[in-house]
Amino acid sequence: MQKKGCSEEELFSFLSSVKKNDRAYRKVLSSMCTIPHPVAVRAHNMFIETNLGDPGLFMGTASLEALLVERLGSLLHYKDAGGYSTSGGTESNIQALRIARETGGKKFPNVVVPESAHFSFEKACEILSLELRTVPSDSEFRMDENKIEDYIDKNTVCIVGVAGTTEYGVVDPISYLSDIAGDRGIFLHVDAAFGGLVLPFIKNSPDFDFKLPGVSCISVDPHKMGMSTIPAGCLLVRDPSVFRSTEVDTPYLTVHKECTLCGTRPGGSVAAAFAVLEYLGEEGMKEVVDRCMKNTHKLILGMGELGYPVAVRPTVNVASFLCDKTPKGWQVSRTRAGHMRTVCMPHITEDVIDEFLKDAKEM
Ligand SMILES: *Cc1c(COP(=O)(O)O)cnc(C)c1O
Repeated sequence: MQKKGCSEEELFSFLSSVKKNDRAYRKVLSSMCTIPHPVAVRAHNMFIETNLGDPGLFMGTASLEALLVERLGSLLHYKDAGGYSTSGGTESNIQALRIARETGGKKFPNVVVPESAHFSFEKACEILSLELRTVPSDSEFRMDENKIEDYIDKNTVCIVGVAGTTEYGVVDPISYLSDIAGDRGIFLHVDAAFGGLVLPFIKNSPDFDFKLPGVSCISVDPHKMGMSTIPAGCLLVRDPSVFRSTEVDTPYLTVHKECTLCGTRPGGSVAAAFAVLEYLGEEGMKEVVDRCMKNTHKLILGMGELGYPVAVRPTVNVASFLCDKTPKGWQVSRTRAGHMRTVCMPHITEDVIDEFLKDAKEM
């Protein structure tokens, strides 16, 4: 630290110079985050000093968190779902496995995930000392239905399905998983970090949420397609009493027990997440998702015409291509198998796709 502080002007001129090294979102097709919606920014600023880790001090903000959970629960077909806001998909997935481990009661617990699962499950299993079992994908990059049973045994405390995979935008056979989990009484966690705010707005999308009786728990991230500020994730559970399994005593707070992973938790991004859903409503969200899907299909068509077919037709707005080049000036990413991976987030408008395709023709 400097001994003496600097002037505000000096400080902000330094900050602006640093910010110039950040990528503007415009030519970024690799990210699942996007520019927050203006109402999210306004709501975030309004609640910027709040701490949900001490909800007795911020009862208003805490009631917004409850409303967010209620809105997301209703959207995902269970209005009485329990839940709380997390820092994102990673924390939600860690907590889901923690609950599964604590309620599962096995000495040598294992967790069965699809090969396509997000890397957060690797972290979660390491932290929680759980054995991670990976089920291979089928030809469409979904968890292979015919192989799932081979990986489950009496020590399986959790089955994970992904609704909207990070790499290929497909949905695992969740309804099949729901049947297996239901029959065997195993906790089923659906990682809908991305798809949770996309699939409900797509006509005829596969069932993935609490509508399926075997689904115990869902992660959904408002800081992705919910256009909230960062960090905004949400963990939803069918049976709110499972949170007792992760509770600890918190003697010096306004509440005496805490089931969350983080202590201090931002209220600003929770207000932001709630604000977007409330402001846009189902119709507004559907318009955003429609546009993103239209652009995804336009990109798939255009890349196909250039000789780069899509690896699999996605259900959500994530498209990966058989293409090992990258158009100049653009940010795309690579799947573990090496496919070019793109996400058509709300900041990727139709003209951005046109421009991308024009540059892809010349790469
Ligand atoms: C983004 C994502 C995550 C991780 O979420 P973070 O908010 O980055 O922690 C987990 N699972 C899926 C399916 C995701 O798309």
